[in-house]
Amino acid sequence: SAKSRGRGSFRFFEPELDQLLQARRGLERDLRSALLNGEFELHYQPFLNVATGETSGFEALLRWNHPQRGMVSPVKFIPLAEETGLIVPLGEWVLRTACAEAAKWPDDLKIAVNLSPAQFRSQDLVPVVISALANAGIAPHRLELEVTETAIIHDSEAVFAALGQLHDLGVRIALDDFGTGYSSLSFLQRFPFDKVKIDRSFVSELSGPTDESRRIARAVVRFAVSLGKTTTAEGVETREQLDILRADACAEVQGFHFSPPIQGTKVAQMISERAPAMTERPVVRRAIAG
Ligand code: C2E
Ligand code: MG
Ligand code: MG
Ligand code: MG
Repeated sequence: SAKSRGRGSFRFFEPELDQLLQARRGLERDLRSALLNGEFELHYQPFLNVATGETSGFEALLRWNHPQRGMVSPVKFIPLAEETGLIVPLGEWVLRTACAEAAKWPDDLKIAVNLSPAQFRSQDLVPVVISALANAGIAPHRLELEVTETAIIHDSEAVFAALGQLHDLGVRIALDDFGTGYSSLSFLQRFPFDKVKIDRSFVSELSGPTDESRRIARAVVRFAVSLGKTTTAEGVETREQLDILRADACAEVQGFHFSPPIQGTKVAQMISERAPAMTERPVVRRAIAG
């Protein structure tokens, strides 16, 4: 009968489902010990000023160096860390580590840190940020907090209050992945954003296959620029994309065309190579000059 066939086909998938659940449980268990075992690390990707070609700062991107699985992408474990609440202590570690790293850099370089929705719900985001800045000894204006629309659209009163307090302290607030969420003009005006980061999907369409997709992507860039905030294009991979972004007055760029995320020790090296700028063109500047 149809019913037994249905059950049969369900059974057929059962081992797979079971494997999936087990893999998830394993990952969750490992995630719990990873912070204690020091398996997380931050990589840093520069963002550059389009007009000067200089590096403005670095975005901290979390990596999990799993003893068996190797490097695990944040796309894989951040959703799990969010579901289990582990993102709160993990996010705090990211903030403190990133600020401490930035303390080693020249004062004009910013550090950008991604925040999860759960960190806003945890109540003590503001004191944690204040403490991370104080411990590292860096000025609030050097810290940029990246939030996505989905993080702030829910529970927006509490989030608005926290963002407002952080903004008043001098911390910069960036809207990440712009164009992928529900942004309305009123929403963008209501939150105290300093920066809008255009999602990589639009940046790649700038040099896309059809006239229409290119036009839409350009309209998104122009819209972001017209908001009067600093506009950063993420995922810039080609010279062509950079030229379009420059023509449309996009202020900052970030992407593989300039540099992938790199280890902290490499950042220090990059910075020291930038120091004798009179005799040698800095690495990053050379990258933007194409
Ligand atoms: P995001 O904040 O939008 O970061 C940009 C992602 O695009 C990064 O992936 C980066 O490595 C990648 N990327 C940069 N340039 C290029 C490019 O030119 N081409 C392509 N194809 N990709 C590029 P990653 O490091 O895998 O991070 C993925 C996402 O995970 C991040 O998106 C962010 O939402 C989240 N994430 C990373 N670190 C943290 C963290 O510390 N806390 C939280 N809450 N989320 C994090
Ligand atoms: Mg980001
Ligand atoms: Mg992004
Ligand atoms: Mg993203």
